[in-house]
Parts: sequence; C-alpha cells; structure tokens
Amino acid sequence: LAPEYIRAISPYVPGKPISELAREMGLNEADILKLASNENPLGMSPKAQSAVTAAVAELARYPDGNGFALKQALSRRLGVGQESFVLGNGSNDVLELIARAFLTPGKSGVYSQYAFAVYPLAIQSIGARCIEVPARNFGHDLAAMADAVGADTRVVFLANPNNPTGTFHSGEAIESFLKLVPQDVIVVLDEAYNEYMSPEQRYDAVPWLQRYPNLVLSRTFSKIYGLAGLRIGYAAAHPDIADMMNRVRAPFNANSLALVAAEAALDDEEFLQRSYETNRAGMAQIIKGLDALGLQHIPSAGNFIAFKVGDGAGVNVRLLKQGVIVRPIAGYGMPEWLRVTISTEAENARFLDALAAALKA
Ligand code: PMP
Repeated sequence: LAPEYIRAISPYVPGKPISELAREMGLNEADILKLASNENPLGMSPKAQSAVTAAVAELARYPDGNGFALKQALSRRLGVGQESFVLGNGSNDVLELIARAFLTPGKSGVYSQYAFAVYPLAIQSIGARCIEVPARNFGHDLAAMADAVGADTRVVFLANPNNPTGTFHSGEAIESFLKLVPQDVIVVLDEAYNEYMSPEQRYDAVPWLQRYPNLVLSRTFSKIYGLAGLRIGYAAAHPDIADMMNRVRAPFNANSLALVAAEAALDDEEFLQRSYETNRAGMAQIIKGLDALGLQHIPSAGNFIAFKVGDGAGVNVRLLKQGVIVRPIAGYGMPEWLRVTISTEAENARFLDALAAALKA
C-alpha cells in the first residue's frame, strides 16, 4: 500500500543487540566491546546522571513540550534567541523535520557520496529526489556540491566532520560554500562531531546564522555529551526556519529525562574536557596501531576512524568472534573499509590486538 518512493528506501540497519551477538558468538555479554556507533566511552556526564535520577520521580507527567529550560540554556550558551531552536529526538529527528518542512515530491536534496546515511533516507521519505555528489578524497567536494544545486533543490545536507569518513573542512571553506548557495535553499550543517575537532580545526558557525538565513545548524547530545540512549539533539536556525520545523515536529518529541540531562551536560565542562582529551589520546593510539599494522586510514576529526582492510566483511566477522564490534561501511560503498570508535586506552589496545589477530587469520 505504501507509495513507490517509500518501498524504494533501503532501511537503515542498526547493529544487533549485544545480548544477541554474545549468544551467537558463545561469549559473555560483559566481554563484548562495542566500538560501532561513535558513543562516548566515558559514559554520560555525572551531572546529567544526577539530573536524570532526580527527574525519574516526575515521569508520570508529560515533558515540557517546548523544552523551555533547555532552550534557555542553549540560548545563553550560543548567544542566540530561544526562538531559533528546535529540539529533536536525537539530531536524526532534526534532519527529518528539515526534510518534512522544506521538501516535497518533485523537489531535490543534495548531499555527498560517503555522507551520513540518514540524509538520503530523509529526502526519500518525502518522495523528493536525491542528488548525490561524488566525494573528493573521501570528503565533501564543496564546489561540486554547490554546482549540483538545481532549480528544484530545496535542501543541502553537509556534515562537518563527516561520518563515516571523519573528513572535515575548515571554517573558511564552509563559509565560502554558504556564499555559493542561493539563500532560498536550506543548508544543513550537521555538527554532530564538531566538539572533537582540534583547536586549530575548530570554528564557530553560530555567527553565520545572522548572515545566512538559510543555514540550519544540527547538533547532538549523543556524542561527546554521552547521551545517545536518551535521544536528544537540536537545530539552531533563523527563527522563521525554526518556526516551520516546529510546526511539523511531533508534540513532546524530546522526553523529560533527555531534556534535563542535556541541560546538565551542556555545562559540564570538566566532563567535556575529559572526553575530548580521551579521544585525542585514543586517536593517536589507534593511528599508531593502524600504522604498525600497515593499514591505510582516513585522517579523522571525529571520535572514530575509517581504515582499509581489504575484505571488510571477513575481518569484521573475525573481530566479532573475538567480541569486538566495529562498523562495516559497505553500505556506504566502502566494502574494503571498517570504521571504529575511539575509546579508552585499554579498550583501544584490546581492539588493536583483536584486529592484528583478525588480519592474521
Ligand atoms: N549526524 C551524523 C553525522 C551522525 O553520525 C549521527 C549519528 N550517527 C547523527 C547525525 C545522528 O545522531 P543522533 O540522532 O543520535 O543525534
């Protein structure tokens, strides 16, 4: 009964539950090391944890449907009015709200080859046309993306840093791109991993909201803030754009626990710094290990790295047998590659040992 454009969607395939995998591999659940979803290996911020514990007592009540307190905290932090924010059930939700508010069948959305898998899903779910622009050195070819914007294009999705490749562009390059795109086309700058960029790489996109009324920043609490399971993300945009997105948003899409946790995590500087440092040290450790194994890898500005093993599916199975879950990225057209999340020193070491064994097998 579904329209052809829905039947044509290839579903997003999440990893198997750890319990199921442990059973299949004949391993204890506690011995499974999951490095497949770019989660924070330090868990959640202790401040967020306390906030969640306190909020459990109120779970019989609906959440604040406007997320007033979180928006107030975001507004203070970013220096942008509360009317510029849209809260999402994860930033995934935000991406879908953009598609729903700005695309129709007959219009198109532009994104890069190797870009985050949800962009084509969001575009296709509306019955709009996908324009996938060939990547350059695994990253976004911004000039080609600007060229690909056609008369029917309403949205461009851009991830910086990008998942699964970890590639990134400088702030100057992104702003030059914004100048090239007509202002009646929404540009979504997905900054899910921007907190992991080094001080030299980092830029502040927030002031651009003043100059580019077609810009939507998409951010998440799932990565460095450690709240992936709670599902909370947000968009910051011109108030008129935020208004349209809020019109198509499901009421109460951001739940009570997520709202209080995000608000607490936002100000937990100590936790953020520790998470950043853990990733920086872990990235160096993983790169050293991959180099020692003679494996090619793509320079990454995120909390994960893609590396080339040749037989991605085979090496993945041999890692799974040792209880180590990484992400095969054949679905992105990179069957010879795997992606691993950067973790703590001990977990990184276990991964590298397992990888060495998997490659020998
Ligand atoms: N954007 C990018 C680039 C991502 O990698 C992810 C998570 N894999 C998301 C958005 C969505 O994350 P969430 O819905 O948990 O905020």
